[in-house]
Amino acid sequence: MGTTTLITKKTEARDFVNNLKLQNKTIGFVPTMGCFHDGHLSLIKKSIEHCDETIVSIFVNPKQFGPNEDFNKYPRTLEEDLKHCNELGVIGVFTPDNNEMYGNSENIVFNVQPPEQYVNKLCGEFRPGHFEGVATVVTKLFNIIPADKVFMGCKDAQQLFIIKKLVEALDIPIEIVECSTIREADGLACSSRNINLDIHSRKIAPNLYQSLSFIKTAYIAGEKDFVKLSNEVKSKFINQFKEIRLEYLLALDYNDLKFINVLKPYSLIAIAAKIGNVRLIDNIILN
Ligand code: AMP
Repeated sequence: MGTTTLITKKTEARDFVNNLKLQNKTIGFVPTMGCFHDGHLSLIKKSIEHCDETIVSIFVNPKQFGPNEDFNKYPRTLEEDLKHCNELGVIGVFTPDNNEMYGNSENIVFNVQPPEQYVNKLCGEFRPGHFEGVATVVTKLFNIIPADKVFMGCKDAQQLFIIKKLVEALDIPIEIVECSTIREADGLACSSRNINLDIHSRKIAPNLYQSLSFIKTAYIAGEKDFVKLSNEVKSKFINQFKEIRLEYLLALDYNDLKFINVLKPYSLIAIAAKIGNVRLIDNIILN
C-alpha cells in the first residue's frame, strides 16, 4: 500500500492533518500505545473503511502508569507496528517522545481530572491517577490531531466511558466510534500485555472471559441476580486457581457507571485480575 509518513513533532502532526482537511478529506484517528494485536488492527481497518485518511498515534504514556506499574516493561514493537500501518494504508503515524508530549516542566503541570464518581471504582480504584493520565493525554492528542472521528475499543470500557464524557464536557469536536473487543480463538481478549503471560498463565487466562460468558448465558436464560452469579462464577472459574488474583468482578449500569445488583439491558460486567505478574481486564455489555 501507500507510504506512511512518520511524524514525531506536535506542530508537524497538526499541519499534516490540517493539510489533509484542506483537501476535504475526512480524517480517522486511532490512538494507541503500540505493540499491535488484532484489536488495534481492527480499529485501524475500521477507520480506513469509514474515513478518507487514517492517522495512528503510538505513545506509551508515562502519566497513566503508577510508580509500581509496568511502564518500563510495557512491550514496544515500533518497527512491526509501522509495517502494519504501511500495509493497511495509514497515511501518518504520530510517535512523539515524552519530552515532545510533556516538555520539561516537571513541577508545573496541567492535568485533566475526570469526575471522582467515574474514577473511584473499577480500574481507577486499583490504579490511582491512571484515568487522569489517560484523560490528559487523550485531550492533548485530540488537540494535536484534529480528526473527524476517533476509533476506540470497548475492551477498555471505563476508559471509553470517561473519554465519551470528556469529549462532551469539554466540547471537543470529534466523534467517538466504539469498536467491539477482538479475542483470541479461546476467548482471551487481545491485549499487548498477553505476550508477558507465561505458558501456564496464558492457559488459564481465558477463565476471565469464561466468567463473563457464563454470566451472559445465565442472564439470557432469565437470571438477573448478579450477586448470586458472581459467587457462582468465582467458585467455578477463579478461586480454584491460586495464580489468578481477582481485583474485581462487578456489574454497573453503563449509562452512568453506577453499581447494580440486578442485571438489565446495558449492564457492564467488568473483570480485572492479575495472573502471574500480568494485569488483565475484560468486560461484556448485556443486551
Ligand atoms: P492501547 O494500545 O492498549 O492503549 O489500546 C489502543 C486502543 O485499542 C484502545 O482504544 C483500546 O480500547 C483498543 N483495544 C485494546 N485491546 C482491544 C481489543 N482486544 N479489541 C478491540 N480494541 C482493543
